[in-house]
Amino acid sequence: MKFDTACIHGYRHKEPTGGLSVPIYMASTYRHPIDPQEYDSYVYSRIQNPTRETAEKTVAALEGGVECYGFSTGMAAIATVMELFDPGDHIIATEDLYGGAIRLFRTILERRGLSFDFVDTGDIVAVKAAIRPNTKGIYLETPTNPMMDITDIKAVKAAVYPDILIIVDNTFLTPYFLNPLELGADIVIHSGTKYLGGHSDTTSGFAVVGDIGLNEKLRQLHVSIGACLSPFDSFLVLRGIKTLAIRMDKAQENAMTLATWLQNHPRITRVLYPGLPSHKGYEIMKRQAYGFGAMISFETDTVQTAHNILKHTKLIAYAESLGCVNSLITIPAMCTHEDLPEEERLARGITDRLLRFSVGIENAKDLIEDLQQAMG
Ligand SMILES: *Cc1c(COP(=O)(O)O)cnc(C)c1O
Repeated sequence: MKFDTACIHGYRHKEPTGGLSVPIYMASTYRHPIDPQEYDSYVYSRIQNPTRETAEKTVAALEGGVECYGFSTGMAAIATVMELFDPGDHIIATEDLYGGAIRLFRTILERRGLSFDFVDTGDIVAVKAAIRPNTKGIYLETPTNPMMDITDIKAVKAAVYPDILIIVDNTFLTPYFLNPLELGADIVIHSGTKYLGGHSDTTSGFAVVGDIGLNEKLRQLHVSIGACLSPFDSFLVLRGIKTLAIRMDKAQENAMTLATWLQNHPRITRVLYPGLPSHKGYEIMKRQAYGFGAMISFETDTVQTAHNILKHTKLIAYAESLGCVNSLITIPAMCTHEDLPEEERLARGITDRLLRFSVGIENAKDLIEDLQQAMG
């Protein structure tokens, strides 16, 4: 089955009414069957619920994993997956990581005895140099946020010991454009709040595993920690996924048009989009991914121009988050990355003129007009 078909038919819940969508099963508790053949084996909704199960099996099918777990948020998925590690374990993480993940690692998990090294995982020599005898995991994002750095997942896999767990946060590209399990990753994480849900009306998270042994461990953690996805949010994500392929195609097409337009605009000094041949990760993206996504970062000539865009765009919302049908724009230095010490922030290129643009599925001409009128 091709991907766009799988978005709709990837997992079919046995719906007794013949309904084409799975209902929102608002039941926490299920009768134990007298005859074990009588019901599906639902017991209690933290353990499993038919709506959540359908969402999980659909995401597992899209990522090509053996199983998937649904969480209330992306952060809940990350926090639960990180419980696979023991005190004393060392983890190498991409340095330009999602801010929430950095906060979790540094303020909570380091207290629990894990240690982290944040390195440029696009540089395989740097990854190799960071490996210690107690390194148990590599945590990757590609492209990164907001600098759009690319990591070659296969090259990382080849560079590390086989028992080192490779975890990839695939929120930016979605399984439509990247399948990390295919490239050697062990676990794929999603913030379903973004493209999978796609309409900025729900929060959710997913963790997909490619291996049966690992699956048992994660199942235990998911049930024991209990940060699971509600039936209602499961329904919304499933509804979003039905149009994932078509939304990603349109958003990417828009992103390419916008990136090219921005690149030729006199007020824009730098455009970071991995779909531009000038981007330094372009060749790796062409090799390992099926598309380039719809996230663009760009730098304006002055702070004033950046602020004009944030203040005066009418269609493009100045808002955090990403991956919904609406176009969103934010200024990482003041929003997503404001916790970072200024020196570190500037060293990474996150200046006061850098904007991050989640390109939506509006008409590209309207988006261009909106940016143009905002810049004045
Ligand atoms: C938003 C996001 C998360 C966190 O997900 P929530 O659903 O907000 O908890 C993790 N990783 C990336 C790349 C994200 O964009």
